Amino acid sequence: MKIHEYQAKDIFGKSGIPVPNGQVVASSDEATKVCQIINGPPWVVKAQVHAGGRGKGGGVKVVHYPYEVVTAAESLLGKALVTPQTGSEGVKVHQVLIEEGVDIDREFYLGMVINRAKARPAMIFSQAGGMTIEEVASQTPELIWTEYVEPTAGWMPHQGRNLVYRLDPLPSPGAIRQLMAAMASIYKVFRTLDCSLVEVNPLVITASGRVLALDAKINIDDNSLFRQKEILRLDDSSEKDPLELMAEKYNLNYIRLGGNIGAMVNGAGLAMATMDVIKLAGAEPANFLDVGGGASEEMITKGFEIILQDKRVKAILINIFGGILRCDVLARGVLKAAENVHIEVPLIVRLEGTNVEEGRKILEESNLDFLVARDLAEAAGLVAKQVNKVD
Ligand code: GDP
Ligand code: MN
Repeated sequence: MKIHEYQAKDIFGKSGIPVPNGQVVASSDEATKVCQIINGPPWVVKAQVHAGGRGKGGGVKVVHYPYEVVTAAESLLGKALVTPQTGSEGVKVHQVLIEEGVDIDREFYLGMVINRAKARPAMIFSQAGGMTIEEVASQTPELIWTEYVEPTAGWMPHQGRNLVYRLDPLPSPGAIRQLMAAMASIYKVFRTLDCSLVEVNPLVITASGRVLALDAKINIDDNSLFRQKEILRLDDSSEKDPLELMAEKYNLNYIRLGGNIGAMVNGAGLAMATMDVIKLAGAEPANFLDVGGGASEEMITKGFEIILQDKRVKAILINIFGGILRCDVLARGVLKAAENVHIEVPLIVRLEGTNVEEGRKILEESNLDFLVARDLAEAAGLVAKQVNKVD
């Protein structure tokens, strides 16, 4: 789960990681009021969206007059922001963060992730702050320094020294202390909130020698949301794809992809294999949809409805290996969804497993128009042929 920068900075502030004074607003009226409370000039107006690279996309504006704060807020609010991390259609900005501007002396990168190979949290620090860390990692990996945390010991002060004392030139003793304190606090946030990522880019030393987190990104491990109730309240559903949101509501594993073949499959492994075979047949999947082993008739109905609502879909492949999910339940779910929506694209069905005869019979006796495939390769071939015919 992702949260917004202003929410992450609120958590930072409460955890002893200094952040600039700021307030989030959703309208230009609020912006007018807020720029009188926040110290400036300069002020920084930042689009609050679940995507990075906002600086490059014009989503971060440094301004010098109160009226500019308002015009900057107006120019962002309600508009789509395109950054290197969004698609070409961008993401709509509903809120902007107004902050007091900071005089930056030095910029660093500081982040924490889980290193799966080492099965430990990794603190990543770099002198090359403010830049895309992926680029730094591929072009100048020697500028990135890492410390792994032994979970039973936790973050140790010497690890902070290992990172900070590699800086050249060395910051002032006061700044060194603040950087080390920030690292210890980042680890604490990472642990207590079950994060998959905590990232500060840039972490800066200001002209007056203060260490401040100018940006903040926190991702929470979805598997821990059952015990992170406070965090769950920060969830902003306006940032999500409406079809993905609907899938989430019905416990379906659905991810939108770039192609035009809608696929409904049970089991993540089979779903991935199905996508591979679709590609092998010369077509592209429009989605990943795993309805899961124990899918109910309602889940099948909703899953099928989601695919039907995706206007890019030119053909649909249902590939079900009935185990715990019985083929007759699948067939009834599909028919129910088809009652409400007229299916205008070719439908290819491949069913195997528990109650397969009954499932096939239900489909055959309906007035649903579909093609039957005996195996996965045939199914993918049929579905690819359908879209290539349409194109
Ligand atoms: P991102 O591009 O989405 O990662 O957004 P950031 O929050 O990192 O902002 C982008 C860039 O704006 C930063 O790398 C800084 O260089 C700049 N920036 C942000 N806040 C301030 C500020 O208070 N003063 C100055 N001078 N620059 C800032
Ligand atoms: Mn940033």
